[in-house]
Formats: sequence, structure tokens, C-alpha cells
Amino acid sequence: MSLPFVPPTPEQIAQHRSDILKALMAQDAGLRCVPVRSIQPSTLSLMLTLYDARVFSGYLSRSYRALRVTLSTRMTSAAGKFIHARVARGRAREAEIRMSGDFLFRLKDGPFLLNGLSVATPQEAFLVVFEHELCHALEYALYGSTGHSARFVTLANTLFGHTGIRHSLPTRKTQAAANGLICGAQAVFSFQGRSLCGVITYIGKTATVMVPDSSGAYRDKKGRRYAKYRVPLPLLRPC
Ligand SMILES: [Zn+2]
Repeated sequence: MSLPFVPPTPEQIAQHRSDILKALMAQDAGLRCVPVRSIQPSTLSLMLTLYDARVFSGYLSRSYRALRVTLSTRMTSAAGKFIHARVARGRAREAEIRMSGDFLFRLKDGPFLLNGLSVATPQEAFLVVFEHELCHALEYALYGSTGHSARFVTLANTLFGHTGIRHSLPTRKTQAAANGLICGAQAVFSFQGRSLCGVITYIGKTATVMVPDSSGAYRDKKGRRYAKYRVPLPLLRPC
């Protein structure tokens, strides 16, 4: 694979990751906590700047007119995401790497298995998720498309030593399932002093529960009516 910069050696990969982690933790007290309490926008852009300089020799900033890193606390299904605007031709590229605060802020005790690596801390896990998204940004800049093909896997392995593309970080869904809360299951919660029981239809940061209610706004195929409730997961019990 020919790259427009010299890729790091395996020893350099680990060194870059630990140097970058040190620099980010030094400037952000929220990031130093376990679980991570907060992460500043300036820390996110420093993370990009350092990776771009050390691993990509500045290739990303030369390729993108704007590449932003943001933190979303609403993204619950993915730990990170690479989002780009479609451009017919030319180099007017704008893209965003969106990192999930929802994943990060729930991580406590490692090790975490992700992208084929075993990492010890939530902070390191965050970087390894980011590295995966950086590979999407690079592949897109180089080839105009990106996915999880063999080409992508080779890039992620060459640049970061990743040997896979999956993670075993706990999702809201798997955490809820461990407590017996899954879509289709009955669950009970209290609402304005009453105990309500219904069926879970969605699990994200909150669960959606459909509760039988003769004056409810929702109706199923058999004509039964339901009211919809959004319930924080800690307030919900299986029944
Ligand atoms: Zn991916």
C-alpha cells in the first residue's frame, strides 16, 4: 500500500498513542477522571492536530478544507462516526468525526477489547475509537470512498496496529439486557405515584414503553390503545 507519508513502525504506534494521551490528559481535568467526566472541544481538536502531525505528517489537514471533531452525548449506537458531505469533484472536502460521549462516559474498568487491541483505560479506548475514524477520514481523502473493506483493514493495521474493526464496549442495549430489559419485554415503572406496566419498544439513553391505556394516542393492529412513555433506564424494572 503506497501512502503519501511514511507510516509509523509498530514501536512508534504505541509511543504516539501514549504521548498523545499524556498531552490531552495534561490539559483537560475532566478527561483525567474515571469514568471520564467531560471533554473540552479544545481537547478534541488537539487530539486531531497531534494525530495528524505525528501519524499522517499533516496529510489530513492538507486534504480537508475542514475536518471537525465533535462529541455527541446522544449517539448511543456507535462509539464513533465519520461523516462527510458528498462532493462531485474537486477538493472542497468537509467532514466530521463524531465521538460518542455516551460510550466514553460509561466506561469504568478495562481492559476493553476494540479494533483487535486490548486497552486498559477508558481514555485509551477513546483514542483507539478515534484512530478507527481517522482511518475512515484518510481512506476517504485518498480514494473518495470509505467502508470496512480489506483496503480499510490494511490501512488501520498499517497506521495503528488494529487487527479488527469491532469493539466490545458496553452499549446501552447490552447493559439494559443484562438487567432483563430488552425490546419486546414487559417492564414496570412508577409515574406520578402509580405503577405502570408496558412493553419496551426501543432502548437508547431512555427506553420507550408502550402502556395499555384506553385513551392512549397509539393503536395496535387489534385496536388496543396505548400511551407512550420515555423512561430513563435506571427507573425501569422487568416484570
Ligand atoms: Zn468504521
